[in-house]
Amino acid sequence: MPDRSSELYYEACRLMPGGVNSPVRACQNVDSLPLFIDRASGSHLFDVDGCEYIDYVLSWGPMLLGHADPAVTQALLEAVPKGTSYGAPCPGEVELAAAVIAAVPGMEMARMVNSGTEATMSALRLARAVTGRDKLVKFIGCYHGHSDSFLAAAGSGVATLSIPGTPGVPDHVVKDTLLAPYNDIDAVEELFREHGKEIAAVIVEPVAANMGLVLPVPGFLDSLRKLCDTFGALLIFDEVITGFRLAYGGAQARFGIDPDLATFGKIIGGGLPVGCFGGKRKYMEQVAPSGDVYQAGTLSGNPLAMAAGIATLKRLRTENYESLQDRTAKFAANLAAVLAAKNLPVQVPTIASMFSVFFNENPVHNFSEASASDARLYTKFYKQMRERGIYLAPSPFETGMISFAHSEADFQKTLEAASAAKF
Ligand SMILES: *Cc1c(COP(=O)(O)O)cnc(C)c1O
Repeated sequence: MPDRSSELYYEACRLMPGGVNSPVRACQNVDSLPLFIDRASGSHLFDVDGCEYIDYVLSWGPMLLGHADPAVTQALLEAVPKGTSYGAPCPGEVELAAAVIAAVPGMEMARMVNSGTEATMSALRLARAVTGRDKLVKFIGCYHGHSDSFLAAAGSGVATLSIPGTPGVPDHVVKDTLLAPYNDIDAVEELFREHGKEIAAVIVEPVAANMGLVLPVPGFLDSLRKLCDTFGALLIFDEVITGFRLAYGGAQARFGIDPDLATFGKIIGGGLPVGCFGGKRKYMEQVAPSGDVYQAGTLSGNPLAMAAGIATLKRLRTENYESLQDRTAKFAANLAAVLAAKNLPVQVPTIASMFSVFFNENPVHNFSEASASDARLYTKFYKQMRERGIYLAPSPFETGMISFAHSEADFQKTLEAASAAKF
């Protein structure tokens, strides 16, 4: 008998390209069909066939408190009867902006948008406007959403599907996107030597989480800050994943680096569609209507999204990030040990509440090393884990996410499943 997930998937394929609204979800790369989810609670997902899974995707990052956190749910229940959108200012916008600005050291002003993609494309427009320059430095394998300028060597989804960039992006747009390997400061220096006067900004994931998990080597982020200062370019931290996950104040708090602009999304919306860009007042004041750099959105600052974001940040302020990092590190080490005991080449890098599994002999510092991992082993691992109720990202180029709702029993069950897997 066909299961309900497959039935829905085949119906969806007639109605939507590839049956999904975002490509990696289709699970093509791991030779599987997607699961359709009925509901989620804490660290667990329940699919439409009634199967239960321990969730290490967490909607790709937003659900740091776990699914359906009671405080977030309550905030939404209170907000819904007051109307779902006004297209006029509401108090929640002021409250969420204040919370983000108070939390993140480099933020002096913020603008709410509806997705991470909108946040990064708007930050880039602003950087180009204030510098009067067009070029952008981005790192191979870093993902900054799906707007044209960022779709050169864009990591995760694009890498998963083996699309080099994408058709439909004009050459004249990506010609202004200069690429360097992650963690390679010499390559960035070279780009600045050649194009220094034309570079508007360097954008970076301060911890790369869209080529699997790749940590910055000591000095890398510092050197980017210095190079930008020397050449008059803006440093943009894309904190759409790291914001409120690496620490409450994000990567800039954790690493003590002061970017000019930063972008947020995922966690700050508590699972509703939100993004945010912001940074130094002198730059943000150039955004319309205080300045002339146009940026707008019908649903920006949406009252439900603000309510979920405010409730999420309020809860996170008092959560113990150190303890979650310690528990994650222990879990990652145990997972690495279980897989290494099967004579598999394996790396399980981890920081804060993130980890990833590279089937690779050597530690991974950049996208080409990540790509050298054994994708066939990952597919075998993914399928067997899913059969045993463990929901991992359907791609080795994504990062495993852990929430404050994950229990020791969840970790134990996950390790047992990994232990039972055959390769
Ligand atoms: C997810 C992500 C984005 C894009 O956010 P969307 O809300 O999917 O548009 C941008 N940057 C990074 C680092 C991301 O992980």
